[in-house]
Amino acid sequence: MMEQEHNSLVKSIGQFYIVLLRMTNGGDMTDKILLPTELTAENGAKAALIGEFVEEINVDCAECGGDGEDPMAEDLRCWACDGAGMYVRSVDVSWTTIKAIYAAAVEHFKNAT
Ligand SMILES: [Zn+2]
Repeated sequence: MMEQEHNSLVKSIGQFYIVLLRMTNGGDMTDKILLPTELTAENGAKAALIGEFVEEINVDCAECGGDGEDPMAEDLRCWACDGAGMYVRSVDVSWTTIKAIYAAAVEHFKNAT
């Protein structure tokens, strides 16, 4: 092998090694696992994750329209919300949102070097 060829090969291997080190964060895989780049029904993620996450949202009370008052009540407080004007409701995080959050995380770590 000519010296020029040899140098070129060494350079290529060196570049490959640098890329590999970046991909594995310096070779440290202790806190890492391989994950698919996308959550789908096919890879089982939909069945595993749908309905698993809940968030709480504030909803205006339908009885008093959100002001917490009931002019007919003795203490003028809405019987339904006890004067708060709203109540907390739990809603499932949608499958679309779960996928979007996952995709954003994949994008973040894909670009992190
Ligand atoms: Zn109310």
